[in-house]
Amino acid sequence: MAIATVNPFTNETVKCFTEDTAERIERAIATAETEFKNWSRTGYSERAGLLRKVAGIMRARKKELATLITTEMGKLIAESVGEIELSAAIVDYYADNGERFLADQPVETQRGEAVIRHSPIGVVLGVEPWNFPFYQVVRFASPNLMIGNVVLVKHASIVPQCAIAIEDIFRDAGAPPGLYTNLLIPGRAVAALLDDHRIRAASLTGSEEAGASLAAAAGKNLKKSVLELGGNDAFIVLEDADIDKAVEWAYVGRMNNTGQCCVAAKRFIVVDAVADEFIGKFVARMSHLKVGDPLDAGTQLGPLSSEEAAVHLADQVRRAVADGAKVLLGGKRIDRKGAFLEATVLTGIKPGSPISYEEMFGPVAAVYRVADERAAITLANDSPYGLGGSVFTNDIERGKRVADQIDTGMVFINHPTWTAPELPFGGVKRSGYGRELSGLGVEEFANKKLIRVSGLNDPF
Ligand code: NAP
Repeated sequence: MAIATVNPFTNETVKCFTEDTAERIERAIATAETEFKNWSRTGYSERAGLLRKVAGIMRARKKELATLITTEMGKLIAESVGEIELSAAIVDYYADNGERFLADQPVETQRGEAVIRHSPIGVVLGVEPWNFPFYQVVRFASPNLMIGNVVLVKHASIVPQCAIAIEDIFRDAGAPPGLYTNLLIPGRAVAALLDDHRIRAASLTGSEEAGASLAAAAGKNLKKSVLELGGNDAFIVLEDADIDKAVEWAYVGRMNNTGQCCVAAKRFIVVDAVADEFIGKFVARMSHLKVGDPLDAGTQLGPLSSEEAAVHLADQVRRAVADGAKVLLGGKRIDRKGAFLEATVLTGIKPGSPISYEEMFGPVAAVYRVADERAAITLANDSPYGLGGSVFTNDIERGKRVADQIDTGMVFINHPTWTAPELPFGGVKRSGYGRELSGLGVEEFANKKLIRVSGLNDPF
């Protein structure tokens, strides 16, 4: 895949970039390793100081950065602004809380003293997706930099200007060379990086294929990996739910980022008693969206991230229909320039059919009717993925009981699955392993080193 900005609103190529040469990659790794020796010896206040400057620059450049996001991957401009604000909040969160999270943990022991110390491990590689070009990067980089690691970032090939803008922000905040380095390389070049002994661990957010490839390379080299992969999240509506509120959240949960969130609500599992009402109102809510330029604040439905993404999603809809699904709304490419697809609602997808197990990454909602709560839980869990999920009910205790039975990394009650700096993020099954954000986010790439003090005359 070429490394280039192609505006999905027009499908026109805006700017092309040259892949890093082998020499440039070697220099980047060597500089990172050298810088690690310095950075790992800095104190938490110095690390936090740098992160605060990064957050400040992000806020100061919010408009320009948001415009870059929208130009490169088509996100509605208000959502791009929201992403920059959230990203700055995450950076500040680790600046404010990193030292506390990383403090020595005393271990109760029968003799002497023991503590767990969070030591840095070295150069860590982050492979990041285009769907949240700033948020995904900072949730990887900020905890690592607080630990004392240094990072190499390989961003998605369709958002090179965002990738470079983040590196610029770190440089402008005073980061020394090698602390944060962007690599302009294609996905296929990643696995070989794991063979380099100077790269100690890697994190990838993206598709299962990319995740499996990175994990295999990490495994071969006995290195730790964290994987944040796809999802097919269930959005369960029980008969005692507030249907109007559930419909509004269903719309937000499906259409945020034009449906291109790993934790988007993708399977709407509604109990029979309220299914007609929910479906009628949901289809109405998804209808008549103002289609247009994502840079225009009035636009409600922008393009997908790329023409390839739109072609792939349209093909998934076609296959679903060929397999018996019914189109309640949309279903087609929009007849205009750009990577557009209609807001779509499907019903009648057969549980267990191949398409029922696929992630549809865009504005396509699949609605399923089920008899009752038990059937809803069974269907929610009938997925190779295990990322997030939602339960809508007016009985919070019931919602918690249902949440307990959903086999995913995150379940939200009366809200679509979403993110905040303090909430751990990650999945199980084919959605990956490990957690980002919150206090758990600093645990993944720290060496939890035991330091034990014994008396010289203690027994063995
Ligand atoms: P993708 O194709 O896997 O791309 C993600 C990153 O992986 C890009 O930087 C890509 O580089 C790189 N890559 C591609 N092939 C690779 C390989 N063989 N080895 C190593 N790296 C490789 O994913 P996407 O389609 O852009 O992103 C959408 C997917 O990400 C969806 O499945 C979504 O659910 C998932 N996602 C998950 C989370 C989460 O936190 N769980 C968050 C956001 C997105 P190139 O661009 O150069 O190919």
